[in-house]
Amino acid sequence: MALTDSFQRPLRDLRISVTDRCNFRCVYCMPKELFGPDFAFLPHKDLLTFEEISRLVRVFVRGGVKKVRLTGGEPLLRRDIEKLVAQIAEIDGVEDIAMTTNGSLLTRERAQVLKNAGLQRVTVSLDSLKDDVFMKMNDVHFPVSKVLKAIDAAAEAGLTPVKVNMVVKRGLNDEDIVEMAQQFRGTGHILRFIEYMDVGNSNGWRMDDVVSAKDILNSIHEVWPLETVPPRHAGEVATRYRYQDGKGEIGVVSSVTRPFCGACNRSRLSAKGRLYTCLFASDGFDFRELLRSGKSDEEVFGALSELWGLRSDRYSELRSDETRRRNKIEMSQIGG
Ligand code: SAM
Ligand code: SF4
Ligand code: SF4
Repeated sequence: MALTDSFQRPLRDLRISVTDRCNFRCVYCMPKELFGPDFAFLPHKDLLTFEEISRLVRVFVRGGVKKVRLTGGEPLLRRDIEKLVAQIAEIDGVEDIAMTTNGSLLTRERAQVLKNAGLQRVTVSLDSLKDDVFMKMNDVHFPVSKVLKAIDAAAEAGLTPVKVNMVVKRGLNDEDIVEMAQQFRGTGHILRFIEYMDVGNSNGWRMDDVVSAKDILNSIHEVWPLETVPPRHAGEVATRYRYQDGKGEIGVVSSVTRPFCGACNRSRLSAKGRLYTCLFASDGFDFRELLRSGKSDEEVFGALSELWGLRSDRYSELRSDETRRRNKIEMSQIGG
């Protein structure tokens, strides 16, 4: 039974954060000052097990989920993640399994193992081609070349089309937009520019730091003219464009300046099993508790139906100083 929320939006997409840990400290996500050496990450026993995750995916598929994305924190830090991929790939009704990663641990071998397990696509995050800029953004001195290698490894393994996420933050990497476009034009990879978002409460977000999708597109269009591409399906996060000279496609995710809540069909499961019906939600529903207290699949499905039926989130459309001050879940806990 496909579930719909209070605005008749279906449930289609499930993003699963498999760990709250990360080996990067991106300034817009896990700033070092707040995620320092003493930060208390979740102990292993608090994380959903692979069996618990697979069971939830089975229940969510009954509710309409067709796409699953593994994320984090850094999903490749979770040991044996390919086993989880394999378990999810076996579930009838899952049409698409993807992963978002910072690429730091995506070797050729790992990419192939993930592909063999049933992973279909990866999105690799990369914010600049300049080491000094990228290192300032990941804040752990991680070099660009290794991420480029990860992108090649993903493509070679057939985890395609590879998408590349670039979060644009004014004054940090906005000068690198055209260079990034040049790097990935004609490669078959899809570069996606993401407006810097006010997720969580720890990144010190200011509207002044946001470079709008319009400005991003204009700067590329001036060099290589673009045209729009119709969405592949309803609720697509990125607006799609292609180069008029046939050199491929790019996307922009304009959550701040052009919100797209109207067709939002995404749900997000945190590493400890709380379900969030919006990226900017304050609280989630504890599915781990249901599983660990011995509830049946029917009861778990009942809880999901009720929760999705009541959903009325549209944070980006309502964004204001007041909504921004609310306590919100951190990106590293639900994975974007
Ligand atoms: N660690 C993995 C990675 O970086 O790809 C997966 C998790 S990360 C939270 C998922 C995506 O969210 C990344 O592409 C990241 O750049 C993006 N992201 C994180 N914080 C953001 C913010 N404040 N605004 C926009 N995008 C953000
Ligand atoms: Fe880690 Fe990804 Fe957040 Fe960067 S964006 S700190 S890589 S979780
Ligand atoms: Fe969906 Fe919430 Fe983002 Fe709107 S703000 S598109 S409801 S996740």
